[in-house]
Amino acid sequence: MAKTALKPIIITIDGWSSCGKSTLARQLAKKLGYIYIDSGAMYRAITLYFLRNHVDWTAPEEVHEALGDIELEFRFNEKAEKSEMFLNGENVEFVIRDLVVAEKVSEIAAIREVREFAVAQQRRMGKKKGIVMDGRDIGTVVFPKAELKIFMTADNAIRVERRFRELFDKNPNITIEEVKNNLEMRDYIDSNREVSPLRQAADARVLDNSSITAEEQLKVALGWVREAIG
Ligand code: C5P
Repeated sequence: MAKTALKPIIITIDGWSSCGKSTLARQLAKKLGYIYIDSGAMYRAITLYFLRNHVDWTAPEEVHEALGDIELEFRFNEKAEKSEMFLNGENVEFVIRDLVVAEKVSEIAAIREVREFAVAQQRRMGKKKGIVMDGRDIGTVVFPKAELKIFMTADNAIRVERRFRELFDKNPNITIEEVKNNLEMRDYIDSNREVSPLRQAADARVLDNSSITAEEQLKVALGWVREAIG
């Protein structure tokens, strides 16, 4: 499907940690000429700010004050062909992928005020449609009327292996145990929190990418896009 002047839609991709959501979202955005928004990067950037500034996130007034000092922005990097997360003007795209951030992000993403702060910005980004956003609550809470909702799954062992390889490139000291524990902990917190838990939307299409290639998954998703555009 070529970049198209057809009516732009909203595509949401939700699912467990390290299911390949961002790979598919990036592929679709490129193919369709859409904007890709990695909503997880926003929660990671907020977490980085809280950690750096020793914010006690169990204290609602501290959270409120800290959020008032946080400005999040995605800027497109032409060379890398991807959007990067900026926190108060600083490019934090690399540092937010660190395990130190991953260890706390689900706890912070479970705070109601943090979610309200992020969701309001995510909805603004979708105003003009022509967007692919991935996360945990995008099809259920952020854009419940999205034209196409995808829910991704993959075998646990494959997810651990994929994330381990990604993180190992940046930090050769990391162990597979650490990665496995982190994924299990995040999935548990994300799907059991009170506010916007990770759920499959009733009208989502399920994509299990345990044993298909990136090209195959793109083909499947583009078929759904065609149906959604009508
Ligand atoms: O997508 P990624 O793994 O980078 O997200 C990091 C964390 O941010 C998730 O484990 C989850 O706790 C939180 N998150 C969320 N809602 C989203 C996206 C991410 O709660 N829409």
